[in-house]
Amino acid sequence: MAHSLEHLFAVALRAECEEHQLDLKVLDVSPMGCRTGYYLTVLNPAGALPLSRATEAVRAMLPGALEIGELPGARLETCGAYREHDFEGARAEIARLTREEIVPLERPPLLT
Ligand SMILES: [Zn+2]
Repeated sequence: MAHSLEHLFAVALRAECEEHQLDLKVLDVSPMGCRTGYYLTVLNPAGALPLSRATEAVRAMLPGALEIGELPGARLETCGAYREHDFEGARAEIARLTREEIVPLERPPLLT
């Protein structure tokens, strides 16, 4: 399910950034190994994306992620883990996250 979330988050966040013309390239949105949060990895000009704006974009992309009708990129040709996907499980997790508070961590504990 975790890798399915990565696929859905990446596609939905890229769409969110494109819609709002944010000057960044989303590389990855992935669950932390300990499952207490998510890492967002982007390329953007230094200082161009305040953490508050990134958090807003993540919050805003969740409904879009729920609207995706088919798991993107989940084929042998595009994903080495294509057999391990859990689209419905990922959708249930996203639905849960829409009811949670999104709390950005400027300095995640394991990275300091
Ligand atoms: Zn994949």
